[in-house]
Amino acid sequence: MAASHSIAEKLNQSKPVLSVEFYPPRSEEEARRIIKSAQALQEHHLDYVSITYGAGGSTRKLTIDYGEILHDLFDFEVMPHLTCVGHSQDELKEIIEGFQQSGFHNIMTLRGDPPKGEDHFTPHPEGFRYASELVNFIKQQCPDFCLGVGGYPEMHPEAASVEEDLQHLKHKVDQGASFITTQLFFRNEDYFSFVEQCRALGITVPIIPGILPALSFKQVQRFCSFCHATVPQELLQQLEATQGDNEKSIQTGIDWAYKQIQGLLEFGAPGIHLYILNRSESAAAILRQLREDKLVAKA
Ligand SMILES: Cc1cc2nc3c(=O)[nH]c(=O)nc-3n(C[C@H](O)[C@H](O)[C@H](O)COP(=O)(O)OP(=O)(O)OC[C@H]3O[C@@H](n4cnc5c(N)ncnc54)[C@H](O)[C@@H]3O)c2cc1C
Repeated sequence: MAASHSIAEKLNQSKPVLSVEFYPPRSEEEARRIIKSAQALQEHHLDYVSITYGAGGSTRKLTIDYGEILHDLFDFEVMPHLTCVGHSQDELKEIIEGFQQSGFHNIMTLRGDPPKGEDHFTPHPEGFRYASELVNFIKQQCPDFCLGVGGYPEMHPEAASVEEDLQHLKHKVDQGASFITTQLFFRNEDYFSFVEQCRALGITVPIIPGILPALSFKQVQRFCSFCHATVPQELLQQLEATQGDNEKSIQTGIDWAYKQIQGLLEFGAPGIHLYILNRSESAAAILRQLREDKLVAKA
């Protein structure tokens, strides 16, 4: 039987779905890194990879170009991200059609963060205000796309309350999203209670946990202040103790992420999405260990 292209169908196959997230490179050095990392991860039989969409649509072309490279050169099933930032509905239609022509089958559908230097999200006058509107739009234009949306175990920072945020998430799913990928988190309890609350509200789609294998004390602080994820004191202390020793810092991040993943798979998470920041070392170590420990089937 031919492998399915739809992430929703992959999630139906009762085995953990493994994926990583790339971002479009912004320099030659980063371009070399993404290629090297894609090469290194090829042998790990990922179910799909995703590629982000830059603030303000700044990487629109690069998202498509690198999405195609990841597919054509490395044979990955690629899910591009798309945001509402700075786009009219006509532009979004054109981009979605472009995604179709490039042979993508899935889209991570987002509102997006404000462009650099702006504090507030301002919708394009002929565009969309919320991701739910974009989900609805894509489903009208190209119903065959399988759509993922973002979920926030620690609540989206702009939401008035957890309850309202969950209602908005339910609305996104009701508009046609087939799965949720979470913002990164370091405490599994946050994911467990998020899933519980989603289920209680009648959100039934798979909820894929997003995990960041931390690289260093500084990186985790910078990154998490940006995405409002809580870093447990214990992890911070471990990373602080390894400052100056790159290898030890990376191993600390791998160990924390691996323990998280073990707990998540035991809980019944439908897969794991790794935020890899275009680096393969931690992801490769985690994927190898998962197979050695038989937490996922040997490919
Ligand atoms: C898995 C994942 C991938 C991401 N990839 C990217 C990327 O590639 N590029 C990028 O720029 N950013 C990305 N982000 C970040 C994301 O764009 C930001 O978190 C953004 O601030 C919110 O996007 P959203 O799609 O969750 O928005 P929405 O679902 O639209 O929610 C945004 C806020 O509005 C509220 N809200 C929603 N609907 C309503 C309503 N009807 N009435 C009132 N309030 C409402 C929500 O509660 C929330 O507070 C990603 C996030 C995740 C979790």
